[in-house]
Amino acid sequence: MDLGISGKRALVCASSKGLGLGCAEALAAEGVNLVMNARGVEALEASAQAIRDAHGVDVVTVACDVTTPEGQAAVLEAAEGADILVNNAGGPPPGLWTDWEREDFIKALDSNMLTPITFIKGLVPAMMERGWGRVVNITSQAVRAPIPVLGLSNAARTGLTGYVAGTARQVANTGVTINNLLPGIHATDRADALDSGVAKQQGISIEDARAQRCVGIPAGRYGTRQEFGAACAFLCSQHAGFIVGQNVLLDGGGVNLTM
Ligand code: NAP
Repeated sequence: MDLGISGKRALVCASSKGLGLGCAEALAAEGVNLVMNARGVEALEASAQAIRDAHGVDVVTVACDVTTPEGQAAVLEAAEGADILVNNAGGPPPGLWTDWEREDFIKALDSNMLTPITFIKGLVPAMMERGWGRVVNITSQAVRAPIPVLGLSNAARTGLTGYVAGTARQVANTGVTINNLLPGIHATDRADALDSGVAKQQGISIEDARAQRCVGIPAGRYGTRQEFGAACAFLCSQHAGFIVGQNVLLDGGGVNLTM
């Protein structure tokens, strides 16, 4: 299927690895030019070059922390006029409800709620003027089914979800869609870190921790960044113009809900 977005320009935040990289790769495969971002320069440049080599698209890189005002200004400058925005950043650490103080919540809100809102406010007005735009926020299955040890993530991402629910409907008549993609467990560095945490906590091997976490996934495996990226590219396509304000679970069936 031709997604009809060749020649468009996308900002993909936090995209040197993992799910963000999957989205950048899938968009590039459709002929979309990219602004890619991450804090670490080396992995960012390597991923950007691999995408240029594989797909022949233009890729601009901005190495910075997207959760800081300086980082956001640098990314917004490079991405001015972007047609597509994929919001992403690292997830907050796991813990117990008693572990978290005001500062921890502020940090989580900055990363997983206020940063995506800043980019939406920065880029969506020009998309509205042009009459076309796509925004995809990478959130988490925890928005539908909160994960107890991820209290900071549950709190911040649910806040973003509420904001998007209203905003998506306020801009929909201008040709701009805003949706959320909710990953279940995918095989990325983040999943490795959480597997290591489970292994350490329970005194088991990482392989056993992984097998234990797979038990809760009807598909019997972790998702891949390629599968995730393909779903993102579809939401950014011409065909997805009537999909507005949705929360799309990509979790191998892990969250058992009828709606
Ligand atoms: P990952 O494999 O650890 O990759 C994270 C990417 O984001 C890297 O490129 C990293 O590069 C970049 N990054 C992190 N913090 C950043 C920041 N402040 N500014 C700019 N770039 C930043 O993580 P992932 O698995 O793809 O996860 C992506 C998001 O999905 C996270 O919020 C995660 O919590 C959420 N999620 C993941 C899963 C899963 O199973 N993988 C499930 C549910 C939700 P640098 O470190 O160099 O900056």
